[in-house]
Amino acid sequence: MKPLYVAVDIGATNVRVALGDETGVKKKLTEITDRSKGAGGIAEQIIRMIKALNIEELASIGVGSIGPLSLSTGCVVDTPNLPFKRIPIVEPLSEAFHVPVRLLNDCSAAVLGEQYYGACRGLKNIVYVTLSTGLGGGAIVDGHLLIGKDGNAVEIGHLTIDPESELVCGCGCRGHWEAYCSGSNIPNYVRLLMRGRDAEGSLMLKLANGNPERITTEVLFTAASRGDSLALWIIGKVGEVNAIGFADVVNAYDPELITVGGSIALRNPELVLGPIKENIDRHLINRRPEIIVTSLGEDVVLYGALALAKRADS
Ligand SMILES: [Zn+2]
Repeated sequence: MKPLYVAVDIGATNVRVALGDETGVKKKLTEITDRSKGAGGIAEQIIRMIKALNIEELASIGVGSIGPLSLSTGCVVDTPNLPFKRIPIVEPLSEAFHVPVRLLNDCSAAVLGEQYYGACRGLKNIVYVTLSTGLGGGAIVDGHLLIGKDGNAVEIGHLTIDPESELVCGCGCRGHWEAYCSGSNIPNYVRLLMRGRDAEGSLMLKLANGNPERITTEVLFTAASRGDSLALWIIGKVGEVNAIGFADVVNAYDPELITVGGSIALRNPELVLGPIKENIDRHLINRRPEIIVTSLGEDVVLYGALALAKRADS
């Protein structure tokens, strides 16, 4: 019988659990991340979801999670995107299923998924970037997955764009890349850019019922995709900041391919990647790599967690 693995993707918005074998992800379950039962409730939710898959002989479990992580204790710690200080993952899952459990930052898992199942097969220098509720990355350099002392080697969302910025990141620092360009923070950047500008007649403002406080990331992209000039100008500004972030990534890791995932990029590939490609060259010292949207779509972290589970079993 083929060994069966469980892949887990812990996000701030959704928890996803999948059954997989060596060929790929087979059966998936998705639930809203349960914040109602405290820090321990996240592992309880995952255990319940895995049990619902009715797996007779489970070989191992791979988990890709929002960070930051403490790999030595198997916990998520001080994450800006969930209201808990320390979320235990590895220990409760090991105790419940008595199989090897491996944990990685979700983007580190994703880059592993790209290498095993995605567009990066056969490549030794690759980076995955997610533009989603939060912003993060994973990197494989010279064939080695970068992990770091606590599992947070590629926390690129917290690279500083401007230390004097008015925009404060979810982590508490000023002017981080994520403070401008993540799904939860784009609305703050939009309002900063709109200050003192005439927004009269803008579709973006209309979609927000005339109230700038109600402009969401979705409203911005919807207005831009319908040709609203103010929204398109803001999309360009967001893209300029993303271009700095991507250039920092290229200058640091020298990848041959960058794949991009996360809901913002997956839903708006042209509006997101276009301005990055237009602006990146003036910040680069290293040779420019190819930048594409991930072919694994919203399952990229699950595929990575599956690859991780397979590693744990071998
Ligand atoms: Zn930050």
